[in-house]
Amino acid sequence: MPNLKPSPENPQPMDDDIDRVLISHDRIAVRVKELAAQITADHSPPNLSGAEITIVPVMTGAMIFASDLIRRMPIAMKIGLIQVSSYPGRNVQSLGSQIVANQVGEIRGRHVVVVDDILDSGGTLHRVVPALREMQAASVKSCVLLRKDRPTAHAIHADYVGFEIPDVFVVGYGLDYNDYYRNLPDIVTLTSHAQAK
Ligand code: 5GP
Ligand code: MG
Repeated sequence: MPNLKPSPENPQPMDDDIDRVLISHDRIAVRVKELAAQITADHSPPNLSGAEITIVPVMTGAMIFASDLIRRMPIAMKIGLIQVSSYPGRNVQSLGSQIVANQVGEIRGRHVVVVDDILDSGGTLHRVVPALREMQAASVKSCVLLRKDRPTAHAIHADYVGFEIPDVFVVGYGLDYNDYYRNLPDIVTLTSHAQAK
């Protein structure tokens, strides 16, 4: 990424807020392609047949990951959205998860793949997967781009995991801090200065 300094053309660059690049966009692209191939194969004959799939990205963090993932999956699918609140505002510790919007549509009898950005406390998947099962989906699988190296994250099952990362707070590629930084192409950690803003 270009190291832009504040200037009249770009008064608010993000580069100075980055502490470390954990996973570059190149590595993400390679892994997303692999995940898409695996999910596609698992949901195609002879592994699965008879029912279509619905991809359910967890808004807003999974937006970018899911949009890259589904364009690598050449099979019939619907998209349904769900929004879960767990890190409101500037909190870097999870405060518990709740579904705040459910627009997954009719999923009865369909194969559902929940897509989330990161598995951390496990609260999100713990809340969302049973809710989708209750809506009588034919199957519910979960796919996360990142899984943190902490016991709570490993206590909750995820069917597809992109990368294991250390137990640090990350932003970029959809992940936010106070709703900023989602548009960074890489997964990064922030400087303490940026977190104090
Ligand atoms: P869990 O519900 O498993 O604790 O975490 C899932 C949600 O918490 C994620 O979808 C994400 O919104 C948020 N989250 C967890 N860890 C991080 C992190 O390191 N950075 C950011 N930006 N969000 C996180
Ligand atoms: Mg989230």
